[in-house]
Amino acid sequence: MLGLMQDWPLLCHRIIEHAARIHGKQEVVTRSVEGPIHRTNYAEIHKRALKVSQMLERDGIKLGDRVATIAWNTWRHLEAWYGIMGIGAICHTVNPRLFPEQIAWIINHAQDRVVMTDITFVPILEKIADKLGSVERYIVLTDKAHMPQTTLKNAVAYEDWIAEADGKFKWKDFDENTAAAMCYTSGTTGDPKGVLYSHRSNVLHALMANNVDALGTSASETMLPVVPLFHANSWGIAFSAPSQGTKLVMPGAKLDGASVYELLSTEKVTHTAGVPTVWLMLLQHMAANNLKLPNLKMVICGGSAMPRSMIKAFLDMGSNVRHAWGMTEMSPIGSVAALKPPFQNATGDAKLDVLQMQGYAPFGVQMKITDDAGKELPWDGRTFGRLKVSGPAVAKAYYRLDDNILDEEGFFDTGDVSTIDEAGYMRITDRSKDVIKSGGEWISSIDLENLAVGHPAVAEAAVIGVFHPKWDERPLLIVQLRQGQQATREDILKYMDGKIAKWWMPDDVVFVDGIPHTATGKILKTALRDQFKDYRFP
Ligand code: ADP
Repeated sequence: MLGLMQDWPLLCHRIIEHAARIHGKQEVVTRSVEGPIHRTNYAEIHKRALKVSQMLERDGIKLGDRVATIAWNTWRHLEAWYGIMGIGAICHTVNPRLFPEQIAWIINHAQDRVVMTDITFVPILEKIADKLGSVERYIVLTDKAHMPQTTLKNAVAYEDWIAEADGKFKWKDFDENTAAAMCYTSGTTGDPKGVLYSHRSNVLHALMANNVDALGTSASETMLPVVPLFHANSWGIAFSAPSQGTKLVMPGAKLDGASVYELLSTEKVTHTAGVPTVWLMLLQHMAANNLKLPNLKMVICGGSAMPRSMIKAFLDMGSNVRHAWGMTEMSPIGSVAALKPPFQNATGDAKLDVLQMQGYAPFGVQMKITDDAGKELPWDGRTFGRLKVSGPAVAKAYYRLDDNILDEEGFFDTGDVSTIDEAGYMRITDRSKDVIKSGGEWISSIDLENLAVGHPAVAEAAVIGVFHPKWDERPLLIVQLRQGQQATREDILKYMDGKIAKWWMPDDVVFVDGIPHTATGKILKTALRDQFKDYRFP
């Protein structure tokens, strides 16, 4: 027997309709790409998103067509986003930090018909435009005054384009399983793979993210997502914030420590989300200028492991920290390290121990760890295995790829190795391809990196496995020092000694001027492995 409740499809545009009606005056503040601070609200964003839909329909875009955005976090990007999804077209966020050839590959694979871009990325697109056969027109997210001269096909300034619409447009209902958005994984190995989110998965993910023990925002809070919309839907904040009426502060193109600090401070931001490299820049800027952020209640950090020293720096400043783990294939939230009983009142090192883990799954994510043969392993906090996940916002296949990516129980292998303890707290040991295999035993590169950055002279640290004649692989620690600071190999090894098992100690330390990162801000281990492929331990 079926239930007798209404058939109310979970559609993304219902989120912005709700925000406009209930939280219409709630502000969305942006550091515009053109420079000045721009202020609007959810009611205005909803109105203009309807115009985007109207214009896309006029340009012949239909249900299922792909529309790309290559853009920073701004109010216009948000309008474009809801406008695209509102007519059942698919909003394909493209990461502009990828190499131009990768951008071309992705746009061609998705067969995007329209590209919406910030002025910043017009030159990149001009260089690859002749390769983009499916693209019929480019909408530049700016106004007439800032519209660059461009050779891009049928290019129009966004403000001119939507000015042609009267906004008398209604979004329709369609099946909640309709595709809403797509995002390609970074593809550090092999070609990028397209994750295709549905309206239903995005709405359910927004509800998961709204959990007080997840992102923990509300209509009385202000959220600054430093994490870009092209990085797994800004970790879902583009949906979760309007669904709750949270004020949004969008950082535009400027993500350096000083610019982020300025917005956090002037807009009295309470919650902010980003990758560790962003927080490193912010903390360095604050320390160098003796600055404070008295309104900041919560720093959400994910994408890479958050070092203990960084967690401590934020706690010392009076902010709480939520270390989160996830991936593009998970929309992306997989776990969040909130303090639940019996840890809710933990202090000092005990508190840091919990906050440093990647946390437990919210309702809507199931986890298991298995050995290589697929046998489930115990949740004892010690045994580590392949981390596998399932849930309504987890991918079951990649776009235009036939491979089966789920095991017999419907779980997706994340490619991460982790432990899970009795209380459900998960701790990432490593990416399975980054873990260092020394004499048949595993060493976590993440643990060594986290420890090394605790040394006051170290700005960033990376650990890779390097060939060793006896042990197969041994850890090499690669260090970038803080500006103006000095430390020797011995200083750093001495600092680490006694804090980890003896056999985990790096065999050598090398100093570099910069550590390479992926397009989503993770340490680019493939490049480091390449750089040090001929390295031999002394
Ligand atoms: P995203 O770009 O959204 O971070 P990706 O799919 O590119 O997602 O990368 C996901 C991977 O990033 C995870 O499988 C994991 O290896 C790593 N990762 C994400 N968050 C964390 C974290 N808090 N600690 C350690 N690794 C993390």
